[in-house]
Formats: sequence, structure tokens, C-alpha cells
Amino acid sequence: MQKSISLLGSTGSIGTQTLDVARNLGLRVTALSAHSNVKLLADQCREFKPERVCIGEEKYNEFKLEVNDIDIEILCGDEGLAELASEDESETLVNAVLGMKGLRPTLAAAEKGKKIAFANKETLVAGGKLVTDTVKKGNSVLLPVDSEHSAIFQCIQGKQNKIKKIWLTGSGGPFFGKDYNYLQTVTPEMAIKHPRWNMGKKISVDSASLMNKGLELIEAVHLFDVSPEQVEVVIHPQSIVHSLVEFEDNAILAQLGVPDMRVCIQYALTYPDRMPSNADSLDLFGKNLEFFKYDKAAFPLLEIAQESIRIGGNLPAVMNGANEEAVALFLDHKISFTKMFDLVIDTCESIDTISITQNPTLDDILASDKAAREYVRSHI
Ligand code: NDP
Ligand code: MG
Repeated sequence: MQKSISLLGSTGSIGTQTLDVARNLGLRVTALSAHSNVKLLADQCREFKPERVCIGEEKYNEFKLEVNDIDIEILCGDEGLAELASEDESETLVNAVLGMKGLRPTLAAAEKGKKIAFANKETLVAGGKLVTDTVKKGNSVLLPVDSEHSAIFQCIQGKQNKIKKIWLTGSGGPFFGKDYNYLQTVTPEMAIKHPRWNMGKKISVDSASLMNKGLELIEAVHLFDVSPEQVEVVIHPQSIVHSLVEFEDNAILAQLGVPDMRVCIQYALTYPDRMPSNADSLDLFGKNLEFFKYDKAAFPLLEIAQESIRIGGNLPAVMNGANEEAVALFLDHKISFTKMFDLVIDTCESIDTISITQNPTLDDILASDKAAREYVRSHI
């Protein structure tokens, strides 16, 4: 079991649940970061007593005042995040930052050879091979936190067998069973009401559009070294089976449990051991387990994600950047739910103007992300 962690994104949904797990396991927390939530970050500093903390640049002065009674080193902005990610005090970085902002800290921790408990999927989608190569080169390790990837990781423990196929489950989100016409009218408030999981707003919208499953498919390709064709998405509205792995003899292993991210976070932190958890245990009696194909016509973004990883290079970074921007505009009531689809698709199709690069460097990835965001903003 790991004894000390640094945690980026401590004020978010994954961040606060990670601190719950840290309380349960009695872990030492050496560093915390948040972007805007000064009050909660200050409370966390009082409870966990980290040596260092990082806050968004705009909130630096406000936060400094808030914690002027505590002895703590305060960093800020992107530089601060990367510095915390590569510090020597902790064995493991938990990356629970939202979006592409997590890329530099992930690379910094990987170069240092730290273990990385990894929730921040956008980084792996956009960074792809650059991230996995840096992890290998630095003798680092990625420990998945995302529930599906944690399930797959748990199913392949102790086996040298080749994976034939991954069955990636998804609840279908709040609009499961609805058609495209209905989706044209949905509001951000409807989209962030997930039927099974309580998550941050951005991932909730991604779950509603099924882009989350697309991002997770790409995440699975990189984490488990499989082809996009080996990953099959299956809608499982009960969210009890968190994903399945099929082997060459057609045997399928699955991981089941209540939908509670603390189980996945804890496994990443206790791996390869298991410890008692605060999450409820699953009562199997009376449960139905259903599995459906997803509706391609109503939810086109999942196929776009599949196509983007098939083509590869910087295209997933372009798609991810366009999606992050489009989700922010939708949450801000600036565009409709289905306009998000159009913007992401148009941006990926404009790749001729953005230009495709195989084996992109960090600069290529950041440039692709920027170009995609600019494209989206100039087409609303
Ligand atoms: P939240 O929005 O709840 O939290 C995001 C965290 O990142 C907050 O601490 C926030 O700080 C911080 N943050 C936001 N913007 C920036 C920025 N520009 N720079 C630095 N820090 C920033 O998100 P979630 O916890 O839901 O998700 C975090 C990551 O985990 C995402 O990549 C998501 O896809 C992934 N994930 C989440 C799951 C879930 O159940 N929530 C499940 C699986 C994966 P502040 O609040 O102070 O502004
Ligand atoms: Mg998931």
C-alpha cells in the first residue's frame, strides 16, 4: 500500500472522494491543489496539513489571506501544478484535475518515476503515446481510477494472457433511450443530472452525450495496449458491472460493485493489496443486469472518438480540445446540446486546416488543443 500522496484537483468530485479514502487508509497528504475553491482548499489544508499547496493564479492573494495562520508553502498556476506533481515527498500523484490542464503535471510526475493514480482522462486522450512513452521511460506507472479502467485493471491482475476484447460498460447517461430530436431541446441542468454517479459538471455532460465513453475507449487503448477494434461499448443502465475482459478462450471476467468511485480510488492507492472500504457492499438479490447497443444516430460523438483514435496522431487532442470548449459553452447556456456535436465533428473534419501530425510532441499537442478551441469559438 502507498503511504503518502500528493493530490491535484482536491476540491472536485474525485478530489474530495480521494481525501475520504486517505482518511480511511490513514495516508499522509503532502500536497493539494485547487483552481478556484479557496474556502474548501483552506479547510482541507487545516485537516490534512500538507507541506505545499497550489491555487489558480487569480485566487492566489485571496487564498494567502485565508491561510495566513498556517505554515504552508503556496504555489500558483500551471508552473505550481507541475512542481507539486514532481515533488519528492510523496510516492504517488493522484491526478484529479479537470481537462488538458492535467497534461504537464502528468508528464512531470512520469519523468520523476512516480506512481500516478489517474482520473484525468483528457490528458491520456490528448497526450496518448507521449504520456505512455514518458511513463515507460521514467519507470513510472499509471494506476487507473476511472471506474471502467479500474475494473479492467482488476480483471487482468495475475494473468499474462492476451486480452481478446474489452467490454466497456456505460450507464447510457440521463438521456438513454431518447432520440436526436429530443436531445436538441435538453438543458445543462438536465444533462448534469446523472442517474447513477455523482460527478463534476464536465464529465456529467460528457456522460450525457456519450463522449465520455469515447474518451474512455481511447483511454483503454492507451492503458491496456489494445486496438480500438478490441474495445466494444455496451450500455448497462444498472451500473453494477463496471466493465469486462474477454480472453482468447472466450472466458469473460467482470468486476461488479455499487457505483462508488471510492472503491476505484482506493484500489489505485492500495494496489496490489485490498483494504476495507467505506463504500457499501453490493446486494445481488433482486438485481437485473441488462446490456444494450448504443444508439449511433442519436449519439454521434462516440463514433467520432473511435475514428479519431483509429487515425491517431494529434487528432484525439483536436477532438478533446473541441469537446472541452463545446461543453463549457453548453454549460454556459451559449449553445444547444446537439450544437456541441456539430462543433466537435466540424473541428475534427477541419483537420486539414489544423493539420495532422503523427507522434506529436508536447508542443504539437498543445498547439492542436489551442487550434481546436479557437476553431470552436469562431464557429458559434
Ligand atoms: P470537478 O469539476 O468536480 O473537479 C475538478 C478539479 O480540478 C477541482 O479541484 C478544480 O478546482 C480543479 N480545476 C478545474 N479547472 C482547473 C484548472 N484550469 N487548473 C487547475 N485545476 C483546475 O471534476 P471531477 O472530479 O468530476 O473530474 C476530475 C477528472 O476526473 C476529470 O478528468 C474526469 O473526467 C475524471 N473522472 C471523474 C469521475 C467522477 O466520478 N467525478 C469518474 C472518472 C473520471 P476548483 O474546484 O477549486 O475550481
Ligand atoms: Mg468512467
